[in-house]
Amino acid sequence: MTSSEIRENFLAFFKGKDHTIVPSAPMVIKDDPTLMFTNAGMNQFKEYFLGNSKSKYPRIADTQKCLRVSGKHNDLEEVGKDTYHHTMFEMLGNWSFGDYFKKEAISWAWELLTEVYKLDKDSLYVSVFEGSEDDELELDKEAYDLWKAIVPEDRIILGSKKDNFWEMGDQGPCGPCSEIHVDLRSAKEKSKIPGASLVNQDHPEVVEIWNLVFIQYNRKADGSLESLPEKHVDTGMGFERLCMALQGVKSNYDTDVFRPILKEVETITGETYGSDPKKDIAMRVVADHIRAVAFSIADGQLPSNGGAGYVIRRILRRAVRYGFTFLGLHEPFLYKLVKVLVTQMGSAFPELKKQTALIENVVREEEHSFLKTLEQGLILLDEVIAQTKDKEVDGQKAFELYDTFGFPIDLTSLILSEKGYTLDEAGFEKAMQEQKSRSRSASEVAKDDWQVVHPNGEQEFLGYDQLKAEVRLLKYRKI
Ligand code: ATP
Ligand code: MG
Ligand code: MG
Ligand code: MG
Repeated sequence: MTSSEIRENFLAFFKGKDHTIVPSAPMVIKDDPTLMFTNAGMNQFKEYFLGNSKSKYPRIADTQKCLRVSGKHNDLEEVGKDTYHHTMFEMLGNWSFGDYFKKEAISWAWELLTEVYKLDKDSLYVSVFEGSEDDELELDKEAYDLWKAIVPEDRIILGSKKDNFWEMGDQGPCGPCSEIHVDLRSAKEKSKIPGASLVNQDHPEVVEIWNLVFIQYNRKADGSLESLPEKHVDTGMGFERLCMALQGVKSNYDTDVFRPILKEVETITGETYGSDPKKDIAMRVVADHIRAVAFSIADGQLPSNGGAGYVIRRILRRAVRYGFTFLGLHEPFLYKLVKVLVTQMGSAFPELKKQTALIENVVREEEHSFLKTLEQGLILLDEVIAQTKDKEVDGQKAFELYDTFGFPIDLTSLILSEKGYTLDEAGFEKAMQEQKSRSRSASEVAKDDWQVVHPNGEQEFLGYDQLKAEVRLLKYRKI
């Protein structure tokens, strides 16, 4: 099954169960002070769960563009090193707003995985909330009994609050969850160690694919729980992980979601994916990060020096530096991957297709600007390291790299950790604060890094305007 078919089958399945299919919300959030990026399918339905408004439809399903690089969910450090955490990924989801509950959510999830997708039942494990003394909650017996009717009991794993209880925040709607994990190991490996013992243990071939959350409580300000009058279902399944399981491969990067991009990386670099572990990490980082950057720009969020724009710039620079150091790419290259990505995902996400030229231009220009200083900065960092005696690099020096060469601090940390050094973070923060108070008194250039890219007409890219050393603004004119 191709990834497009896998996505379509998910939506068709839930449509057949009376769900309304809605489009993905933007990945970049502009009207919620608590969240910069969508990090789960439920984000766009938050107000329904909070009871502030009511959904027009009692049942909804969709695929949601998510980004997990900041806040509570930050997977950035895993990306590339492992084969199943991405920065940007799609979360397939189905929801019930005060409509069906555990029985349907569980039996439909099982039906879809084993009858429609035909996943081997013997490769699946499920987890159920074991209860928590703090909250005086017992085992989620309802879910346990529903699973017991479907799978042998040795495939049901009891999970703690950490993995099997979902909360929106310190207060508000919450509830137990039940997750589905897939064991992709060979029969021989399976006979050696039982899969049940590897669930939630960060094993690369025993991977969580679907989280079914049962929202049935409200956490009050005093920390106690009360039952909600209306119970809801919120599920999220990692699309790329599902593709991995269905396409019989052991890494998300070996699915048709990533192979075309990796193939293009191979063409550009002349390297073969799979031949050198260090280069493989870099190739995965590049293939992953271009998606986060491209989808963000398609949503109207350009790389910039602050807020969400800076997060995107950091991701882009991280990819450029991996390419530079491990793949010998000293000229802009990321922008060349955009076309492949659009071919791959443009029909499911038309905004990507519509903004192809803009994405390519912005990415190329960003790469160009960063590459100009990257080489010099790396030399300087090496000098700084050479002068460092106690394995901790001076924060003021790291700040100069940031200030002069545009090295995001996490990039400096990453390079240092690769070389066995740490960073004096407090010193960096101090230097940063000092500069901020200096520049507060200087006149600020007003800038808005948020661009409405397709309001009611096309826009033409006019080029860049160099305002000050590091701040580049894009200028647009409506046509
Ligand atoms: P994990 O334990 O693997 O980090 P999670 O428990 O943090 O996953 P959930 O918040 O339950 O993930 O999200 C629902 C589903 O989204 C997961 O079951 C998984 O399939 C997928 N998912 C979560 N994080 C990522 C990621 N960084 N990249 C790709 N898929 C992800
Ligand atoms: Mg996680
Ligand atoms: Mg998990
Ligand atoms: Mg989970």
